[in-house]
Formats: sequence, C-alpha cells, structure tokens
Amino acid sequence: MNNTKGRGGTPKHVPMNQFNVIDNCLQIGGKPLVDIARQFGNTPFYAYDRKVMRTQIEQLRSALPANIHLHYAMKANPMPEVVSYLAGMTDGLDVASAGELQVALEFVTKPTRISFAGPGKSDADLCAAVESGVIINMESNVEMRRIAALAKAKSVRPPVAIRVNPDFELKSAGMKMGSGPKPFGVDAECVPAMLETLKTLPMEFMGFHIFSGSQNLRELAIMEAQTKTFELAFRLAQFAPAPVRWLNIGGGLGVPYFPGEKRLDIASIGANLLPLIKTARERMPEAEIVMELGRYLTAEAGIYVCEVVERKVSRGQTFVITNGGLHHHLAASGNFGQIIRKNYPLCLGNRISADAVEEVNVVGPLCTPLDVLGNKVSLPRADSGDLIVVFQSGAYGFSASPKDFLSHPHPREILL
Ligand SMILES: *Cc1c(COP(=O)(O)O)cnc(C)c1O
Repeated sequence: MNNTKGRGGTPKHVPMNQFNVIDNCLQIGGKPLVDIARQFGNTPFYAYDRKVMRTQIEQLRSALPANIHLHYAMKANPMPEVVSYLAGMTDGLDVASAGELQVALEFVTKPTRISFAGPGKSDADLCAAVESGVIINMESNVEMRRIAALAKAKSVRPPVAIRVNPDFELKSAGMKMGSGPKPFGVDAECVPAMLETLKTLPMEFMGFHIFSGSQNLRELAIMEAQTKTFELAFRLAQFAPAPVRWLNIGGGLGVPYFPGEKRLDIASIGANLLPLIKTARERMPEAEIVMELGRYLTAEAGIYVCEVVERKVSRGQTFVITNGGLHHHLAASGNFGQIIRKNYPLCLGNRISADAVEEVNVVGPLCTPLDVLGNKVSLPRADSGDLIVVFQSGAYGFSASPKDFLSHPHPREILL
C-alpha cells in the first residue's frame, strides 16, 4: 500500500495521510494549522485530532472479533480531555498510578472497567485502588499480601488479577516487557502456588493480565504472542480458585515512526484472534477478553508544533533552530529508548511542499547536542516564524518529556 522506499532504495517514512493538506497547509481537526497557531497565540504546542483517533478505533474494532473489549492505557497520553474522549469510545481504561486512577474515575463509572498495573505500587496507590474497587493487576506475592492486609482493614474484597510474566517472548517488540527476568508480573511458573495462597485471602479472583511488549510492527510476531498468551491463560486457569472472568491479553500494537516502517495489517491480527476467542468461549465461558492499547490509539493523531527562531549555517550545514525540542518531545529527539537515533517524520506545517527543498538539521534551543528533532531532513526553505511539525506525537510525547530541563516555558496541549 505504501511505498516506503525513496530514490536509490533509501527507506522513506510512510505518508502521514491521516491529515489533510489544503492550500499547502496541514489541517488538524479540520482547521489549517496556521489558524490554530494564531488562535493559540504561542508555540510550541501539541495538537491531537479526535477524528484520527476515532478512525483508528473504528478500523481496529472492525478488524477484531466483536467480543474483544478495548481498553485505553492512559500512560500513552494522560491529557484529561483525551482520556475523556477515549473513555467514551473504548470499554475501559488501564492506569498505572493513583494519579492516573483519579483521572480515570472521573470518566468511567463502573470500577471493574478500570485496571491498575505497575510494579512497586505505593501504599497510596494500593489504598486508592482497593477503595475504588478497580481490578488490581498484582505484580508479586508481596503485593498480594499488602492488598490482603488493606482489604481486611477496610472490610472489602477487592477484585484482583495476576499479572503474568510469560514464559515466551514477544519477538521484535520495541520494548520487551515479558519473558526472562523482569520486574513486571509474576513468573508464569510461580503462578499456580500464588493462586493457592490467593484462595485463603479476602480478594475476588478475576483472572490474568499477560502483557508481553510494546511497539511491535510485525504481524507474525504479534499473532504468535497472542496464540501463546491464550495457551498460557488456559494452562494457568486450571489452577485458579474460581472461573476466569477477565483476561487481559495486552496489546503491543506499534505505529510507524521511522523510515522503512509500515503501518500494521490489523486484518491479519484480527483473523488470528478469531479462533482463539472461539476456544476461549469454550474453555473460559465467563471471561471478558480485553486488549489494552495506548500508543496505537493516540500516537498517529498527535502532532508537536514548534516555531523556527533562526537559521544558521555552520561549515556548510544549515541548522534550523526552533523554540521546541528535547525538553518537550524527548522521544522525537531520540533519547527515549532509541539506540541509533532516527528521525520522526517532520514537515513544514505552513508550507508542506515547495519547488525547491533543502537538507537541514532541525534543532532545539537547549545547550546540548542531544537537542535534535531532525538530522539531515529535506524541507522547503524554513525561515523565522515557520512552523515545524513532528508527526506521530500523540503518545509518549508531552507527559514523557523533561519539561523543566533548562526552564523554558512548557508546551501547551489542545484536543481538536
Ligand atoms: C505501557 C503499557 C501499555 C501500553 O502500551 P502501548 O505500547 O502504549 O500500547 C499497556 N499495558 C501495560 C501494562 C503497560 O505498561
């Protein structure tokens, strides 16, 4: 579908065709970017397009078996307006702290539509979780004991699931979060003994949470992991003190960030899930099957916009210096988990194409060589006041950046 090879076979970014271009200007939320910037008054900012999120969810739902529930993992983009919007379009929310839980409870009324995962939950985290009655994904035996003590003290039976560290690996995930020694979850081989103990404690067993990785762009690897996730769940269910009522199979669906990467073929993943869900209906008839996604729901809908302050030529190379950078968008600078720095897709938002393009380095205002948004990118000539856009910025952008580093103003966020 997408031609990801450029001239001479060098890889290109997939087209950022989730947004329209009218009169050579990028449109976000149906409005020209220049109007949004003017209305907003100042740059830099993040802008998120509801319609792109909605389309992504609709396409996903039509590809997946009908009875799979979709949860939004809030840490990808915790802006309350985004969470509110996605809470309305999904079947629940996944949180990873008491802070996220507080926001989630504003938008989801049924507590068992919220699940709480994360290693090293504080007393405050566990207290808030037990009091609100959300499903706690227990990450260890120690945590189970702490929850039991709180439950006893408060005379409640909190719904719990065991987060399992699987005994298989999600091949080629950007960030592996399962298999081998991990701080996340309970090693699969230790789960039967934990279930024995759980029987004696004041808690309601709901099921399992099996999350094996993030940012995966290989359909075959995802399918294999999903097949193994169900097999593992069926195996562990035999040791459960009660029928499994909830099975969270994780997510891990990736989006293309770098040259040569392609969008996932969701249809093939949906087709693989169909027989798995059918078997689950037979073997775990009471189980609600949940997929939890963060990045996949928000990343493509977001852009980061900063403004050119100055152009500068140094020994033959042109630097386009902007008022935004690493402090606002750590991931695009390459300092959030990348080993070899690659460029996010960029454009000049107020002048998408021009007869002549030039090769430039787009950098931020910080006094560190790490503050790079684009290394040797081709753009129309950019001058002071022009708008540099970083695509694929709706997840792990604003909230995952060190905004106080060098004490520049924080960027703003807008949902359109
Ligand atoms: C971070 C996280 C997610 C979301 O991962 P994405 O790659 O953003 O989809 C889902 N579940 C758990 C347990 C996580 O920690």
